[in-house]
Amino acid sequence: MKNQRGCPDMNEVRVRIAPSPSGFLHVGIARTAIYNWLFARHHKGVFILRIEDTDPSRSSPEMVEAIIESLKWLGLDRDEGPYYQSQRKELHQKYAQKLLETKKAYFCFCTPQELEEKRKKAKASKADWKYDRTCLKLSDAEKEKKIRKGEPRAIRLLVPSGKTEFDDLVYKHLEKENEDIDDLIIVRSDGRPTYNFACVVDDVEMRISHIIRGNDHISNTFKQILIYKAFELTPPKFAHIPLILGKDKAKVSKRHGAISVMEYKEQGFLREAFLNFLALLGWSPKDNREILSTEKMIELFSLEGVNPANPIFDPEKLEWMNGEYIRASDNEKLCDLVIPFLIKENLITDKTAKQKRERLLKFVSLFKERCKTLKDFAEKGKYFFAFDYRYEPKAVSEHFNSAEDVQRLNTFVQRLDQLERFEKEKIEQALRNLTDEMKIKPAPLIHTVRLAATGTSSGPPLFDILELLGREEVVKRIKKAVEFIKTKFN
Ligand code: GLU
Repeated sequence: MKNQRGCPDMNEVRVRIAPSPSGFLHVGIARTAIYNWLFARHHKGVFILRIEDTDPSRSSPEMVEAIIESLKWLGLDRDEGPYYQSQRKELHQKYAQKLLETKKAYFCFCTPQELEEKRKKAKASKADWKYDRTCLKLSDAEKEKKIRKGEPRAIRLLVPSGKTEFDDLVYKHLEKENEDIDDLIIVRSDGRPTYNFACVVDDVEMRISHIIRGNDHISNTFKQILIYKAFELTPPKFAHIPLILGKDKAKVSKRHGAISVMEYKEQGFLREAFLNFLALLGWSPKDNREILSTEKMIELFSLEGVNPANPIFDPEKLEWMNGEYIRASDNEKLCDLVIPFLIKENLITDKTAKQKRERLLKFVSLFKERCKTLKDFAEKGKYFFAFDYRYEPKAVSEHFNSAEDVQRLNTFVQRLDQLERFEKEKIEQALRNLTDEMKIKPAPLIHTVRLAATGTSSGPPLFDILELLGREEVVKRIKKAVEFIKTKFN
């Protein structure tokens, strides 16, 4: 067999991701894209984007844009493309013509109705449907006549006898008897190539060396190998990767999070964490480590490390991993990532984000230990920016529980007023002095003050929070809490 057409060096790694723009880039395709990209970067090869948009009813420019945007967010930079399959129709037809000439393919004039009838009959007698080659048996004269009459015609591949086999880089040796494979249509009667045919022609033309895609394509691979053989070309290497399952072992669906990759961005996942998480859905490095920088993944990635068993998409693990990345992030970078989430919740504006950068940096460093997503900063830290004087009901019964709280908080406010500098150590000292004088433990007053100042019963260290809120705000909040407690005990 000849080498692939025009391929100067079969050792050059050239891979592609070939999404159909009929939907957003969901986690399944994203993971396939990641494996192709890691493989290309590891081997210093080429990563190509090809948009498989031959079905106009299932493609839209918005979807193409969304796919490109998602790949960009994931950081999967491409070396070539996007190529649009719909713009390569003539090339596909030229290739089909070659197969007609070498008699590896033939015209099929059967109408969809005729085929449907035959299919139904086969079904009724419980036989497997396979095209019965009616049109292969036509004489040249009969064919000529039909062509002259302008009868619509598709082109079918003539599947030879024998068997088709290949060594998959993940699933090892796979084979299938050709008698179980239909004479597939390669070009429809309207001139559009079918997926299997356009895919092979484009992979040949783009000199693809390795095809890495979901294992739901294994049955297509047998058909595609037959097409390569019909052209007397060596097929690329194939690596089929296991499909991602939800926790209930069903194929991952919208319900499991098979939503657009961009939604994960909106939910506050970090690009690097999401990439790391998806990469480990089916692949693991030899030492089984879990937190891997993008550079490390490029260094360690190999198709031998892909496990054929279906990985489970575990949203809690994704959150855990995101939390790890948040904690490890430098505050400046984290601050830039958190700001849009605070703006979205109307907690700050673009302008205040710039003016109060120092304060935001402190806020981020205080909360990063407790946040699993960027969105959490806006949720858990909301009281920093906008306090609605609503207190957690359960915490109210625990920490605003006596008329004495009023007196304690009032005295604490006086002490805060007297502080020379409103710094966490001084604030803490003031509180401890007060509890010593009152002969009570500090903890209950700490809880009461936290609830008064934040409306919550837990969070980052209290004295850091108070310092960051500032004296005026803290005093105001405590006074409001005093009013609230008074109404409770009157
Ligand atoms: N358009 C196909 C899909 O989205 C591409 C499969 C392939 O990689 O060959 O499933």
